Amino acid sequence: MVIIVGAGLVGAALAIRLSQLGIKVQLLEKNAYKKPLKKDGRTIAVTLGSQKFLEQCGLWQALAPTAQRINHIRVFEQGSAWTLDYDYQDLGVEPMGYIIEFDCLLSALHKSVKSAKHVEILDNCTLQSILPGEVHTKEYGVLKAPLVIGADGRHSWVRNQVNIKSSTKEYGHKALVAHFIHEKPHQSTAWEVFQPSGPFAILPMVDTPQGQSQSGVVWCGSKDAPWETIPTTKLEQQLMDIFPFYGKVTLNSQRWTFPLVALTVDKVTAPRTVLVGDSAHALHPIAGQGVNLGWRDVAHLAEILSEAKDLGGDLGSPHLLSQYARRRKFDHKGLYFFTDGLTRLYAVDNSIVSFARQAGLAVIGKIPPLKKFFMKKAMGI
Ligand SMILES: Cc1cc2nc3c(=O)[nH]c(=O)nc-3n(C[C@H](O)[C@H](O)[C@H](O)COP(=O)(O)OP(=O)(O)OC[C@H]3O[C@@H](n4cnc5c(N)ncnc54)[C@H](O)[C@@H]3O)c2cc1C
Repeated sequence: MVIIVGAGLVGAALAIRLSQLGIKVQLLEKNAYKKPLKKDGRTIAVTLGSQKFLEQCGLWQALAPTAQRINHIRVFEQGSAWTLDYDYQDLGVEPMGYIIEFDCLLSALHKSVKSAKHVEILDNCTLQSILPGEVHTKEYGVLKAPLVIGADGRHSWVRNQVNIKSSTKEYGHKALVAHFIHEKPHQSTAWEVFQPSGPFAILPMVDTPQGQSQSGVVWCGSKDAPWETIPTTKLEQQLMDIFPFYGKVTLNSQRWTFPLVALTVDKVTAPRTVLVGDSAHALHPIAGQGVNLGWRDVAHLAEILSEAKDLGGDLGSPHLLSQYARRRKFDHKGLYFFTDGLTRLYAVDNSIVSFARQAGLAVIGKIPPLKKFFMKKAMGI
């Protein structure tokens, strides 16, 4: 038996996977399991590696109708003629990944958790304190398990209670998230446009029920950008100025904004406690990797716990926790430095640096092994 705190995209996936492996789970969530979930606008890029993981969890059949293939990724710097083009056929027949709306993903996970054989959902739960192997709650009393897993997001209560130090990087930016329908089809292409004010991604979505082509935008810019208030026609015009390739665009959703913040921790374990997902690492969404990284935490932790269970071992032993920490260190640090470095590199508004960046993209595009290396990283394979 283990306790998981937090039933977000990562905690819910972990509960499902552990249940499949015959490990009992108590899943604690502060909110109620609402149905239907509130839309929050995020269009999540699910890498091919994550798609395989979701398939293994038995979730893909339900998700497939809501998933838009990414067949091409195009990267360029605003005003530059050089683009870096990734094409799925360079590596085979499978897409580079999928775009799925956040609430579709979470609904599918919650539905599956509800029917998971070994998961007990304790929602509307108020946590009071934690000791190694023990969680004190207001509604459900004292819960005991050899391992407590913090999957409670960037502001993790578990992390704070067990005194794991974290450092937060505020980029002083926010991201506008909204959905647009457009005249020309997106042809399963995800675009990343770098501008000095911040990166801009336009991500292909499944067609609307009326058969219109639509995309989600993640537009990073100054925290003072008037995105919440700017009239719709002006917003649409600004979008077409940056991105003229889809013809006329029309806003097709409300607007959501998110502060852009990254977070690192000094360790991912404490006695009988381990962190997964955003509680252990939060990334700038520039590369759409946050939850993909969290699901890799899940896959590794589930494997380690399953091996320990089969051997009749202690699921919260220091040896097991340090094995998890060792396995995840490079992935966590590597992606943080990559996303943070990319953000800083493209924030420099200088013609020489800009030329070097553009030349860099051109070089990657011209050297097939290098291009394939970056493609595989983006695809999580
Ligand atoms: C604009 C934007 C775009 C993004 N795009 C992508 C993308 O394309 N691809 C990608 O991989 N990632 C993307 N991400 C990142 C991704 O959304 C996150 O990495 C992911 O949602 C983190 O999931 P989580 O389950 O770890 O945490 P959360 O989603 O924060 O979930 C935490 C859960 O814990 C619960 N909880 C919190 N505190 C408590 C408590 N005290 N007790 C009990 N329960 C608690 C919460 O209610 C919640 O259910 C994006 C992020 C943003 C902001």
